[in-house]
Amino acid sequence: MPERAELPGAPEPEDRVVAHVDMDCFYAACERLREPELEGEPVVVGMGYEPGDTIGAVATASYEAREFGVESAMPIEQALERLPRRAEADPEAEDAPDSDESGFYRPVDMTFYEETAAEVKAILHEAAETVREVSIDEAYLDLTPEGWDGAREAVEHLRERIREEVGVVASVGVAPNMSTAKIASDHDKPDGLVVVRPDAVSEFLAPIPVDDLHGVGPVTARTLRERGIETAGDVAEADPVELEREFGERGRELYDRARGRDDRAVEPRGRPKSLSSESALEATDDPETKRDLVRSLAADVSERARAKDALYRTIGIKVVQPPFDVNTRARSLSGPVDDHDLVEAVALDLLDEFDDAEVRKLGVRVSNLDFTAAEQATIDSWDGAGTAARGQPDQSEAADASPDEEVPTEAEQATIGGWEHGTADDGAEEDSAWHVRRGQTRLPEFAEEE
Ligand SMILES: [Mg+2]
Repeated sequence: MPERAELPGAPEPEDRVVAHVDMDCFYAACERLREPELEGEPVVVGMGYEPGDTIGAVATASYEAREFGVESAMPIEQALERLPRRAEADPEAEDAPDSDESGFYRPVDMTFYEETAAEVKAILHEAAETVREVSIDEAYLDLTPEGWDGAREAVEHLRERIREEVGVVASVGVAPNMSTAKIASDHDKPDGLVVVRPDAVSEFLAPIPVDDLHGVGPVTARTLRERGIETAGDVAEADPVELEREFGERGRELYDRARGRDDRAVEPRGRPKSLSSESALEATDDPETKRDLVRSLAADVSERARAKDALYRTIGIKVVQPPFDVNTRARSLSGPVDDHDLVEAVALDLLDEFDDAEVRKLGVRVSNLDFTAAEQATIDSWDGAGTAARGQPDQSEAADASPDEEVPTEAEQATIGGWEHGTADDGAEEDSAWHVRRGQTRLPEFAEEE
């Protein structure tokens, strides 16, 4: 992005480190969470399936079930022919001669899977500042701030956490771009971790069958094979003009991806809830080094917010102490602002607490974004809003917070325009992303953000 070109943490595309995280047989893994006795057994999760019935289609088959030829999207009826249902009601039947040749069928329970996915995603958002959630069980992480050595460690750590804290297994691919990372996460499934550094991309991709390239369905794969193109390596050596003639725009993309070229930045989906910038540094406790970095990160974030016409109500910092100790602090304003100096001042003020701390990564974030007010906002309007907030219901609600809720320790009015602030340490038990602060959740407009 051009506006970030001269700032720290704004890597050229060739310096990117991208992780693709993909949960293994996620629905089946979730079923095993609540029925541990299904561990090691063939498990089929059916969409539109009712227990005991033969309707519906296979949403997920565990690896054990796949060995019987059960595949995703297969009608349940057909799956049952390959893998009969275990007679669960009759315990005797488990010992029947054919019990090894049968499996467990469960209907999709999206609510439970979403809950489990939320736990996984909380861990992903702690591991990386920028996360693109692709589906319930899949996400890209921008690990560029970690560098290549740090990225492997970070991914090992997050896989461990997902296994220990949630109880499911993630396969991860790390590569210089999204398309290669996705192929890498699939490469050693299940329970795989594949790191493809920039100088190894061509070698890694060369033997990959064309079917595994993004956007290649059975028809395209057949056409390619008819041309003698079997692998990504073959695509990379094919004539791009001919590929384009045959497949249009997609042909060009296929050629680029097969050569490990993919310039897409990892971007969160939809309208961002927050904007942030972070950067790793050689672990240091030097206050000036830390302050310098926070100043540039603050400049980066406020410029990006301005470029997106986003006002913000909350300014925060993230401080990572070696190895993975993530601390966040944030302050909420009474009205939305677009004010670089304020971002810097608040971020530096929040950093004071970490003056003596050894840190290896710093981040600055603005959140509680407001895209609607951008045009009409003036100093007057938010100044006014701030004044109004002092004696108005939302403020008194804050004061009346129930005693078991943690009250901001530093709540006070600031001199400029009347903004209230408080510090909050969200630790690991809070919302994954660090934009929900204890000091602000009782304000109704913040509660809606969750
Ligand atoms: Mg998956």
